[in-house]
Amino acid sequence: MQQRTHTCGELTEKNIDEIVSLCGWVHTRRDHGGLIFIDLWDKYGLTQVVLNPQIDQLAHQEAHSLRGNFVIAVRGKVRTRPEDMVNPKLKTGTIEVFIEELEILNPSNTPPFTGWEHQEVGEATRLKHRYLDLRSNELQKNLELRYQITRITRNVLDEAKFIEIETPILTKSTPEGARDYLVPSRLNAQKFYALPQSPQLFKQILMVSGMDRYFQIVKCFRDEDLRLDRQPEFTQIDIEMSFVDEKQIFSLVENMITEIYKQALGIDLEAPFEILKYKDAINRFGSDKPDLRFGLELVDVSEVVRGAEFKVFTQALDSGGQVKAINIKTSAGALSRKALDDLTEIAKTYGAKGMAWIKIQQNELQSPIIKFFGKEMLDRLIEAVKGEPGDTIVFSADTPKVVADSLANVRLGAAKLLNLIDEKLIKLVWITEFPLVEYDEDQKRNIAMHHPFTAPLEEDLNKFKSNPNEMRARAYDLVLNGNEIGGGSIRIHRKDIQQKMFELLGIEKEEAELKFGFLLDALQYGAPPHGGIAFGLDRITMLLANAPSIREVIAFPKTQKATCMMTQAPSEIDLKQLKELTLKYDLS
Ligand code: ASP
Repeated sequence: MQQRTHTCGELTEKNIDEIVSLCGWVHTRRDHGGLIFIDLWDKYGLTQVVLNPQIDQLAHQEAHSLRGNFVIAVRGKVRTRPEDMVNPKLKTGTIEVFIEELEILNPSNTPPFTGWEHQEVGEATRLKHRYLDLRSNELQKNLELRYQITRITRNVLDEAKFIEIETPILTKSTPEGARDYLVPSRLNAQKFYALPQSPQLFKQILMVSGMDRYFQIVKCFRDEDLRLDRQPEFTQIDIEMSFVDEKQIFSLVENMITEIYKQALGIDLEAPFEILKYKDAINRFGSDKPDLRFGLELVDVSEVVRGAEFKVFTQALDSGGQVKAINIKTSAGALSRKALDDLTEIAKTYGAKGMAWIKIQQNELQSPIIKFFGKEMLDRLIEAVKGEPGDTIVFSADTPKVVADSLANVRLGAAKLLNLIDEKLIKLVWITEFPLVEYDEDQKRNIAMHHPFTAPLEEDLNKFKSNPNEMRARAYDLVLNGNEIGGGSIRIHRKDIQQKMFELLGIEKEEAELKFGFLLDALQYGAPPHGGIAFGLDRITMLLANAPSIREVIAFPKTQKATCMMTQAPSEIDLKQLKELTLKYDLS
């Protein structure tokens, strides 16, 4: 095979008259009288090559057998294209290569689709032939961006004296709230490894070892129902450091994220990022991952409407609930009936029984509910939400949870519906002081809101017995335009506190020893104060690439049913393999 001298995206008028060798795939072939034109493709671009029967009879004959996707090598001379054939869209659009030698390196069957052109093929076909799909511009660009993000991350962390340390994949499970993927052990019959949901405990133990600053770009595994845009295996940028508090972690991360934006996208971000306490985020936006690109904040009007004759409000308030409102301001005036119906549907999807509303017209209020309020109360209500003519006020009256969930989603829905989001804005916000635990009605016990190794706020340490549900955690999430992209915490580094935490979670002493004995042991041998964070690389890449799904930024993703269409994993295994593992199917 000829040695290639250039890629298919490289040649310009500067190369005129040079003899060059190119390798690539036949993208398109056009026959024009005696001449055959081929667009030769590789990941760097397209180059037009021309076969003239007068130059090389043999090559020309061979060119007749060429089809799309054949892999070929060509050698020839670079020429200027005739003026009417110049393609200003291509970097190589002013030249072509006149072929003197053609070699077919590998023919190709007719593919079910060509990855190069946007074709209407189902995702199943695209995933089955992922090698074709990956030839598309979008996927090539996405994977390049993904690589740049990891490269920049590594550089930033390297400069800050972090080292990358690998932790085991065959391990004991660290619960992060999902099911484990299990691997049977052949050498230890009836025993199983778990694939890590995250390297959480290993990275903490590395701090006990004095490693000081660890990171790892690492695969994690969670066996969840993949309703959402999730993958059973995903990649985390995992970070841990010793002798730090929240401030140092935030500033490291802010540096990392601003460098990623600057170097990968040429965008300058402002740092430090905003910080919002969990409580304030829920109060103002109904959500712990608020999109701050637009306003539409929630206003608590419970005290203003208390005593009104409107049953829906009084019932909610009498049973300890709340009434909250959003003033939806648009330049186009009050909302249409259709828009109100759409938003009511959203409110109902998130648990509300309905959605009351008031439109403020030039000289009057319009709403089916105003008859239940006195004039003075209405005035106070409009003042509370800073209402002006043209505004529409929407309400939710229910338990705090339903009010928050429904209005958070009405807020998002209204912003989308009314085009209130400036897509160019990038709003990053830290959410802090999450509750340490939340009570799970199904399991009838407290569960850790972040994970069981997260430290409580210093001033809440005395509430383990008296008021655990009021305890706040030293946990933080980083939210980008309403998407959680990372989360972490300052950890518990003392055995006695870790034991209290297990107790609070209803984990008995014995169970704690069995599951986390190695951590409790390590905490007794000089564990320094430490903390860290982990980012979802797939999600960050998706958001930066503006891709519609994380599957578009993963080379070989799995489907919603956690299968790989290309390799057909998971697949059945030999009975012999099962036997070696001392496992049996129970088909009952
Ligand atoms: N291990 C946590 C997670 O995977 C992140 C952290 O606390 O660092 O979400």
